[in-house]
Amino acid sequence: MSNMVNKLKSSASSLGGQDGQSHPAFKKKLQDLAWALFGMGLYYLAARTGMQLFALKPSNITLLWLASGIGMVMCMRHGLLALPLVVFASFCANYPGMAEAHRSSPILYTLISASADGMAGLVAMLMMRLSLPAGLKQAQDLLHFGIKVCLIPTMLSSLIISLNLAVGGYIRWDEAGNFFRMLVLADSLGILLIYPLYQAWRDDHQLHQVEVQRLVLTGLGIGILLYLAFRGHPGFIYFILPVLLLLAFYVNLNLVTLIVAVSMVAIIAMTGQQLGPFQSGNLVEANFMLVCFVCTTTFTILAVALHNRQLLSIEAARQEWQQAAEVDALTGLINRAAFLPMLADEHQRAKRLKRPYALALLDIDHFKRVNDVYGHQVGDEVLAHFASLMQANIRGIDKAARLGGDEFAILFPESTASDAIAAMERLRQRLEAQCIISGAAQVFVTSSIGITEYQGGDVTPDMLRTRADQLLYAAKHAGRNQVMFDAVTDEAA
Ligand code: GH3
Ligand code: MG
Repeated sequence: MSNMVNKLKSSASSLGGQDGQSHPAFKKKLQDLAWALFGMGLYYLAARTGMQLFALKPSNITLLWLASGIGMVMCMRHGLLALPLVVFASFCANYPGMAEAHRSSPILYTLISASADGMAGLVAMLMMRLSLPAGLKQAQDLLHFGIKVCLIPTMLSSLIISLNLAVGGYIRWDEAGNFFRMLVLADSLGILLIYPLYQAWRDDHQLHQVEVQRLVLTGLGIGILLYLAFRGHPGFIYFILPVLLLLAFYVNLNLVTLIVAVSMVAIIAMTGQQLGPFQSGNLVEANFMLVCFVCTTTFTILAVALHNRQLLSIEAARQEWQQAAEVDALTGLINRAAFLPMLADEHQRAKRLKRPYALALLDIDHFKRVNDVYGHQVGDEVLAHFASLMQANIRGIDKAARLGGDEFAILFPESTASDAIAAMERLRQRLEAQCIISGAAQVFVTSSIGITEYQGGDVTPDMLRTRADQLLYAAKHAGRNQVMFDAVTDEAA
């Protein structure tokens, strides 16, 4: 009986364990579903707003269909699950207008158009995955993005929608060509404005206060330009391009895409309200001018912002490589390759200004024994400890370096040998007195140090190094754990 109870308990606890594991997966699925439904709501809102705000009166041609970009992003996030949601949202948004037209079978014709909308999102997503799997990374990607992701999917869906509406009698056959062209442009613009925004905010969330300030200032500037452009001074609209262009050099890609999208949407919305520079008796021409302006501006700014981001990441990689090439990974000190040019620079400066400087070379005594007795790892820790002790005993302007193995150097700018001797004697005594604990090992080490001073004249940095080296080995021969010094003058050299 008790065995059975135990079994029951163990199966109950294993069930609990599975629950514990499946819970996060279930939560994630719920979150995904919530996002998908949110996307569907957003699609519907964007589509309805598009009809209200971005339609050119009196023909009701929509200038911008942001919903196409939202549909594509939904497909990128949720795959095939997004398709019925996009179709449903598009159906709900379009049906009232179709029903108003009092033609036959509005449900069928709306469903066909909504399915074409869903298909456009799916094809755009597939095109993106196939041609730009890493997303928009550089300015050149915009060519593929523009043709394969914006134009091809929207041409397919626009063709289906135009034919569908012409067959259903919702538009005249002679209007179908223009209708197709307007749809392609409006849907492509939707993808062009929404996808880069989505990608930039997904990749990069860090916002710096100074960038937000620049964004606010630019927003104000653009607001003023738009006000002027839409209040009787149409030429001001063309200043928006250089303002955005400058911003693209100073803030993150996510802020650039945000302000570009908001500005372009504002321009299109105001044009939809029959305001501003893009008004013409000929609706097709007005539409064409507006779309050309919006596309040119968006493409240019995106290209510059992407190029700028690429340059910044190349520069960051270069700095990382430079750091790796100049810094000794074990001790964190600069290495020989970085130290020698620094010594040469200081030498030139001291010579020109007739100022002294001192150079110390340091070597740990019998360091091989540390490795032999305690192992290489303890040896490494001793080296790192020695380096941090060096750092703690010099001034901020002094430069400590690991030249290789257990050999180190310190450059003391604006110092005489006696300044350096005081610091090195202090270091020597502290090292001697310290027990370095590494795991079970307790290690005591000492160091020999040679110091020399530059006192002007035609002495070279190499001569100083050689002299410091000679003094270091003199210290070794004199019994180690000591500091030896002198100055190199023309005669001594
Ligand atoms: P001396 O007092 O004459 O300087 O004797 P020493 O044993 O210290 O001789 P030397 O300075 O020539 O020995 C340096 C040793 O440092 C030799 C090498 O095995 C060891 N070594 C060099 N680089 C490293 C390192 O990165 N880690 C460790 N643990 N040992 C190193
Ligand atoms: Mg040594």
